This record gives sequence, C-alpha cells and structure tokens, in this order.
Amino acid sequence: MKLNPQMKLIIGLPLLISAALGSAAALTPVPDKVSCAVADRQAFTQPDQLRLTGWLGARVEANEANRLVKIDVNRLLEGYRKRPGRQSWDGEHLGKWLHAATLAWVNTGDSALRQKLDYAAAELPKCQQADGYLGTYLEKDRWTEWDVWAHKYNLLGLITYMRYTGNLEPLPACRRMGDLLCSTFGEEPGKRDIIKAGEHVGLAPTSVLEPMVLLYRFTGEKRYLEFCQYILRAWEHPNGPKVISTLLTAKRVDKVANGKAYEMLSCLNGALEYYRTIGDPNLLEACLNAWKDIVERRLYITGAASYGELFRGDFDFPNVADVGETCVTVTWIQFNAQLLRLTGQAHFGEQLEHVVLNQLFGAQKCDGSAWGYYVQMEGKKPYSATLDGHCCLSSGPRGVALIPTFAVSTDADGVVVNLYDAGTAKLILKDQTPVTLVTETRYPAEDQVRLAMGLAGEKEFTLKLRMPAWCRATSVRVQGQPVALSPGPDGYVAVQRSWEDGDHVELEFKLEPRVVIGDHKNNGKVAVLYGPLVLAAEADLLGNQLPTLQAVALPSADLSALAIAAEPAPDRIKTWAGAEVFHVNAISRRASKSGEPGAVLPIRLIPFADAGNSGAEYKVWIPVGQSEGNLLLDEKESRSRPGNVAGSITDGDPNSFVVTFEGKPASEDWFAATLAAPTDVKRVTFVHGKTFHDGGWFDASGGKPRVQVRATPAGEWETVGVLKDYPATTAMTASGLVGGESFTCELPKTTKVFGVRVVGKPASGDDPRQAFASCGELLAE
Ligand SMILES: [Zn+2]
Repeated sequence: MKLNPQMKLIIGLPLLISAALGSAAALTPVPDKVSCAVADRQAFTQPDQLRLTGWLGARVEANEANRLVKIDVNRLLEGYRKRPGRQSWDGEHLGKWLHAATLAWVNTGDSALRQKLDYAAAELPKCQQADGYLGTYLEKDRWTEWDVWAHKYNLLGLITYMRYTGNLEPLPACRRMGDLLCSTFGEEPGKRDIIKAGEHVGLAPTSVLEPMVLLYRFTGEKRYLEFCQYILRAWEHPNGPKVISTLLTAKRVDKVANGKAYEMLSCLNGALEYYRTIGDPNLLEACLNAWKDIVERRLYITGAASYGELFRGDFDFPNVADVGETCVTVTWIQFNAQLLRLTGQAHFGEQLEHVVLNQLFGAQKCDGSAWGYYVQMEGKKPYSATLDGHCCLSSGPRGVALIPTFAVSTDADGVVVNLYDAGTAKLILKDQTPVTLVTETRYPAEDQVRLAMGLAGEKEFTLKLRMPAWCRATSVRVQGQPVALSPGPDGYVAVQRSWEDGDHVELEFKLEPRVVIGDHKNNGKVAVLYGPLVLAAEADLLGNQLPTLQAVALPSADLSALAIAAEPAPDRIKTWAGAEVFHVNAISRRASKSGEPGAVLPIRLIPFADAGNSGAEYKVWIPVGQSEGNLLLDEKESRSRPGNVAGSITDGDPNSFVVTFEGKPASEDWFAATLAAPTDVKRVTFVHGKTFHDGGWFDASGGKPRVQVRATPAGEWETVGVLKDYPATTAMTASGLVGGESFTCELPKTTKVFGVRVVGKPASGDDPRQAFASCGELLAE
C-alpha cells in the first residue's frame, strides 16, 4: 500500500497521537434526572469529540458557516413577538434552528454562533404567555393546526441548548410549556383531545411525544411521562392515527393514518425515545416493521422516502411529483440513527451512509447556503435560502448537524466506525479508556481508508467496521496483516486485539460502477451508481455533442459498453478536494434518419449530491437505447399557460406530465411541440396527463380536442383533425380519465409540418373559479 506523507508521520510518530489526548477537554452535558430502561448498544459521539475533514466534513462545516450562523434570529422570533406569524407553521423554525445550531456549535465551538444561540434562548421565553403558551397563534385560534407542533420544536431546541451549554435559564419556560400541554390535553373531562389539535389525523400534534419524553428525563417530572402515555393511548383512540397497532399488524407505513411521512417519522422518533426510556418492546417492534417496510418498498434509489409528502403504494416511484421532501429525509436519518443507537445493527448505518451521501447532500446546496424542499429524481434543484412557508429549509441543517454524532461511535466491545470520512475522533471506551481514531481518506473518491489508533498504553478492545453493502471487494489489514471478513451478528467486521498507540488499519472498498435497471415507472431506463454514490446526467456536463438533457440516452445497460470511469471534477464544479465526475458513453436518443445506430458520445455524470448545484437540469434515470418513431421526441415544447408541474411532453416519458393550472379559467388551452426542421407527419397521439378533482382534462361537451399543425415556423395553426376517441367529458366530470390514456388522430394526408398541437377547452372539476388541462406526452409519426 502506498502511504501518503501524513500517514507515514502518524505511523512514524505514534506519540503524536497520544500526546493529543490530553488537549481540549470534552464539554460535559447536563445529565438527565431519569436514567433509561434500555441501554443503548452504541454510544453516539458528542460532536465536539469528532472533527470530520473530508467530504462529510466539508458539508458539515458549510452547514455551520454558511447557513446556521447566518440565520437572522430576529426573523425566527418574529412570529412569537408579533402573533400570528407570517404563516401557520412559522413557529417551528426557531426550535429547529436551536437544535441544529447547538449541535453545530458543539462541533465547531464558533463563538459567533454561541452568541446567537444565547440570544435566541433568552429571547424566546420572553414571548411566552402567562399560562405557558409559546406558539405563534392568537388566543382564539389556539390548538387548531400547527401550534402544539411549534411547542414540540421549542422544547427540542431548548432542551438541546440547555444540555450542551449548561445554561438552564430556559428551563422554567420549558416546564411551563410542558405543564400547559399537560393541563390542556387529556382524557379527563374538560380537557381537549390532542388528536384534534393539528393536522394529519393527529400525527402532527402528537409528535410532541419526543420532546415530552426528553423533558421527563431532563426534569424527572412524572406528569410529563404520564402525558406521553396519554399520547400513546390517543394514537389508538377511535379518531386516532393507530400508529402502533397498524405497524404491528399491517406492518405498512402507507396504512398508518393518511401516510404523511414527515409527521409519522417524527412520531416514530418519539416512540423510540419512549422505548429507550421505558422499555415497551411493542414500540420497538412497530418501528422495526416501519423501517423494513420503507426500505423494502418505499425508498427511492437516493434514499428519499415520499412523494407528495406521503408514503405511497409499493414501488410507486414517479421521478417528478413533489418527490423527496427534505423534512422526510431528515426524520428518516433521525429514525435510522435512533435504531442504530438502540440496536447496534450495521444495516441502519448502511442506510445512513446512503441517504446522507445522496438525498441529504443532494438537498443541501454544495456551499451549505441553501436547501431544496422537494429534491426530485430529475429537474432542477429548488434551492432556497428563505424560510417562509418552507418547513424543509430549517430541517435540512438538522440532518447535517447530526452526522458527527453517528459517524463514529463506541459500544460495549470498543470502537464502531459507521461512516468513512477523514478526521479525528476522540472516544471514551466503556471502561473510560480514551482512544483517538485518526482517519485518512478521500472516500468516496478513493477506495482506501487508513485508520490509526491513538492510545496512552496497550489496550484490548474491538474495532468494528461497517463493510458497505454495495461493495463486492473489500479488504481489511491490521498492521499490514489481512483480517478475515466475516461480519458478526450485528453486521460489523470486528477486529479484536490488544491495540497499541500508532497501530494502523487499512481498509479497501473497491469503488466500481453499477447499473440499476429501472422497473415500474422507470421501465426502459437505468440509473448509474459508483461506489456509494447515485449519479445523474446533468445539462451542464453533456459536452457539445448532445443538445439537451432530453436528448441523452445510454447505448445499453451493459457496463462494458458504458465505459464508466471516474475523473476529477472540472475546477468550476469542484465542491471539495475529491470531487469527481464520471465519464460514460452516451448516445443520442433520437434514431438517425438513415436508421444507422447512433454514434457513441461521451458525457460526464455527476453525483446526485452535486447535481444541479449550478442551476442546471439533471436526471437520475436515463433512457436506454434509441427511440423509434416519435418525431417530437426531445423537440421544443410549449403550452398555453405554464402551469405548476415541472414535467415534459416531449421527453418520451408519459409519467412526467404538465398542466395549465394557474387558478383561473380559460376558454382554450393547448399543448404544442415545435420541430427544428420540417418533418412529414401522418398521425398525432396525445397521451393524457394526470387528472385532479379540480381539472386536468379537456371539456369535450362542446367538441373533441382538436389537432393542429403549422406549415411554416411561425405560421397559422391549421386544424387537421380531432381526438375522436376522447371520452364524452364535461367541465365537471373526467369520464374515467386518470392519466396515461392515449388518443390518436390520423391526419387526412401526410403533411410536412413545423409544429403540432392539441387544443381544447380546459375543465374545472369541482372548482368553477378555475380550469386547466393536462398532457403527459405528445407524439407524432
Ligand atoms: Zn418539509
């Protein structure tokens, strides 16, 4: 193995590591008053004890420096100082920021951030009302929507702040919030039903379970525990979301209440906190069932877990449909982290690596300054730096701030490595022996990971290493000697030995490309992965041979034909020292007129985490092979009104639909494709887009939708036929249309055209104040 200079230094000067042990004493968190019934299998690392310096470290640092410390705390306090806030869940952002920013401050010790934290923690209690209320609603509107929810985040944020700063000044405010919840909600006469105090069959308000468990442990007040027990009972009340009973019997998250993913995972994170505290095994079993169901049937390839913010049916993964809410990504990370702590099973660490390196980093702008709400499998990254109306923009930083807690941990046997990144971890073994673990690597841009132990003396313990599940060729060498790679019952490869200062371990995780064949809605497409990274095609990395992202196809799913190879990212998109792009052989999606197979056109793929950072369009699932026949494929599209769905009607994918919705009526709507060169057309097919309760189809009561063509680039549109099989819809009824239906119009004669469009009257459904139509795809032959 080739050692780099720094590594030689470590091995050559083992005392250097042990000498570092005495420096920078760990911050001592305020202990709980109540100890837990269930002992954690892994003790997570306090963020001041782990400094990550590789790719993960770059993202963690960017989160602190470019987002958390830059937040205007007065903006966060605004809805409390002047009730009601800008919108109904404006109150959640302060607590979410307090949680993330406290963890980030523990990690970096940034005094500017600490000042902001102190200010927020002092100012928020000043906004508390006499009875303990600390939401953003007016008194008449209390407990109707998102104000139990705001109390949840205020408690989570302030408890985290108090625990790590040792400043207990906000404690009375927290107790008064807890007391108000206890006196307001319950089964006793005169108390309110918490299920009715918020959205999503009560999932939103009852997710206050998590901080109420923490408040019980922090204060030792029994009534907070009794309130938690009330929530668990309320879940199973006739009007409740039946969280635990559904997960124990149906074992499916899409069957719990309305399937709202963020709120449900928030509840499950509370259930696990309760399990840790009290030890009710049903709660753990329910959560494990939920985890298995999500991983096996409801997880996107990047680790996203919802579209339209809900858990959906089995393998129902549209690429564009409000996919991948970042709040869901972050609560999914918290859920896996909880399960990893509680069970010590490596497969939760595997999920953490996958979702962090792909969906979470894909939602974070590479410089940490902004976040995406829905971060979909294709389109443009919707980065935003404001908070108004954007739950996700204060959730994302919480996910990144958690990374140092679980990257490296300890358990009863020794040290556990869950994520691989360069850096230094100062760990305390169960018997209080300090161990420093120094990691050197550019993983995932390098398949070598070098670990070095720092110890004051010789010590026998176990080093547990998570072997990435995607990797087919791994090796572990301790002091140059190969180690057997048989994972233990917890899934980790365990190296038990008497360690000495400077002992070194070399890991190799062979980084290779993989191709995943699409199914269901991605039939005919593939996704390309490289090591742990999901890759995407991006409009800015096509070279000059392919005009648009839509024109890109891969010649086959065969790795040798694709010739995928990693290379350093060009400087303009180098987001960290090891940033890479990936050469792949692409082809033009449109068959050439002569019918000859398309020439191989190399393009570069980019990690999903970095894709779209420049504002360019990207896509994860790439079509395979050339498309025959459709003359409109990848041609320029337009429609009468832009609508609010980011699909396409010329991309060869009927699932990526568009609409003309703008909240207004219209007498006509049209969907068009313009050809770059005049082309002979003999038939036109309209593939229907999705229909909704308030429109999405053509009202055929005054005539079927018309097909029009034009003979010059900017000429008049001329009607050449109608979609005669279009059903007898009205403004109100879609006559069974749901989306995906095809209607073809044979032209009276083959016609040379510059453009094709379908025109009709949009339908209003149940809302006559507006009307719109929808199209999945427009085809011409
Ligand atoms: Zn959100």
